[in-house]
Amino acid sequence: MARLTKAERVAAKEARIQRLAEEHAHLKNGKCPRCGCGLRRNNSMTGWFQCNALGAVGFQTGDGIGKPACDFQFFFDPTPAEREELERRGL
Ligand SMILES: [Zn+2]
Repeated sequence: MARLTKAERVAAKEARIQRLAEEHAHLKNGKCPRCGCGLRRNNSMTGWFQCNALGAVGFQTGDGIGKPACDFQFFFDPTPAEREELERRGL
């Protein structure tokens, strides 16, 4: 496997921090950015969050029940170092 250059590693790290910052904003807001329903934690995997309207009828929950299905979901799983970086940026 080809090694990444330093510039590529820096870019990849920054892209991940940006993604984590966006996810953190969703959690702080508590709303799905696509449909506006609430977000819920899926406890089957650490850091997994889903829109309340995700899934078929019977799997939706809270304010997502009966809404058009929404597939928004993400993993918010920062390492301790990434958490520190987010805090340094005031997020
Ligand atoms: Zn949604």
